[in-house]
Amino acid sequence: MAVEKPLIAVVVPCYNEEEVLPISIPKILDILDRMAVKGLVARESFVLCCDDGSKDATWKVINGLHSADPRVKGLSLAHNRGHQNVLMAGLMTVRDLCDAAISIDADLQDDPEAMVEMVEKFNDGAEIVYGVRGDRSTDTRFKRLTARGFYSFQNAMGLETVYDHADYRLMSRRALELLSRYGERNLFLRGIVPQLGLTTAKVYYKRDARAAGESKYPFMKMLNFSIDGITSFTSKPIRLIFMTGLVFLLLDLLVGAWVLTAYFTGQAITGWSSLMLSVWFLGSLVLIAIGIVGEYIGKIFTEVKGRPLYAVKEEVGIGKTL
Ligand code: UDP
Ligand code: MG
Repeated sequence: MAVEKPLIAVVVPCYNEEEVLPISIPKILDILDRMAVKGLVARESFVLCCDDGSKDATWKVINGLHSADPRVKGLSLAHNRGHQNVLMAGLMTVRDLCDAAISIDADLQDDPEAMVEMVEKFNDGAEIVYGVRGDRSTDTRFKRLTARGFYSFQNAMGLETVYDHADYRLMSRRALELLSRYGERNLFLRGIVPQLGLTTAKVYYKRDARAAGESKYPFMKMLNFSIDGITSFTSKPIRLIFMTGLVFLLLDLLVGAWVLTAYFTGQAITGWSSLMLSVWFLGSLVLIAIGIVGEYIGKIFTEVKGRPLYAVKEEVGIGKTL
C-alpha cells in the first residue's frame, strides 16, 4: 500500500564483491538521499548488504561502509547459498522494517537511477515494479542470444516470467508478506513474483557493464539456473513425455498397417514385421508408462511445495489487514 513517504530498503546480494561495493553502495546512498530531498522516500531508507558467504573481504568492506554510514546494514550468510537464497534472506529480513524493498545486484549492471521511477510507480499504487532491461547492448552477443533463448525456452515449457527482467524489482511490504508464504526450497523468484497477483508496473533501463570484478554467472550457471527454473515451476516436461507416448501409439497404427501390408504382399524379409511391430508398440508403451509415473511425481512435486492456495486481495468489514 502506498504511504506518504515510504521507507525503502535496498537489498543487495554480494558474493565476492569487495571491489565493487565501495563504488556501488555510495551511489545507491546518493540516490536515496536525492529521493529523500525530493520527498519521495523517508530519510531512514537504508541499504542491506547481504554477504552470501564470500571468500574475499566483502564482509569487512560491508562493516566499513556501515561505520561510515549507519544506513548501510549488513547480513552475512554462513555459507554460499546462491543469489536466489541470499536475496530471499535479505527480503525476509527487511520485510517488517520497510514499506517497500528494492533488490539490486551489487555490480550495478542494472541502472540504479531506475530506482527513482520504481519508487514513483510505488507511490502511484503499484505493489510490484519490475526493472526491465530495455537495452542490452553492453552484454556480449553470446550472453544476449543465450539469455533470449532461455526466456523463450522457459515460456515454451510453461514457466511464465517477465521478459528481460531479472531480479531488479521493487516489492511492497504486502508483496513481501505474500512471498514469505512460499515455502519452497528451490527458489526461482522470477517465477514466483508474477504469481503473487498484485498491481504491477514496469520500469525500463539500460543494462550496463559490470562496475568492477567479473560475472558470477557464466554460461553453465545460467543453463543450470534455467533448468532449475523450469523444473521448480512446472511439470509440463513430464506431460510432454506422456503426450509423445500417445502420439507414438497413434503412429503405431499407421506403421502397423504399413508393416502388415508389406508382410501380406510378400515384400518383407523374415523377422522384420514382428520386430517392427514390437519396437513401435513397446516403445510407445514405455513412453506412456514413464509419462503416467511422471504424472504422479508431478502431483507430489506440487504438493510438497506447500505453496499457499490463494492470496486475499482485499477485504471489507473484516478488520484484518495484511
Ligand atoms: N551473487 C550471490 N551469490 C552467488 C553468486 C552471485 O549473491 O553465489 C550475487 C552477486 O554478488 C551479484 C548478483 O548476485 O550481486 C549477480 O551476480 P553477477 O553479477 O555475477 O551475475 P550476472 O550479472 O553476470 O548474471
Ligand atoms: Mg552482474
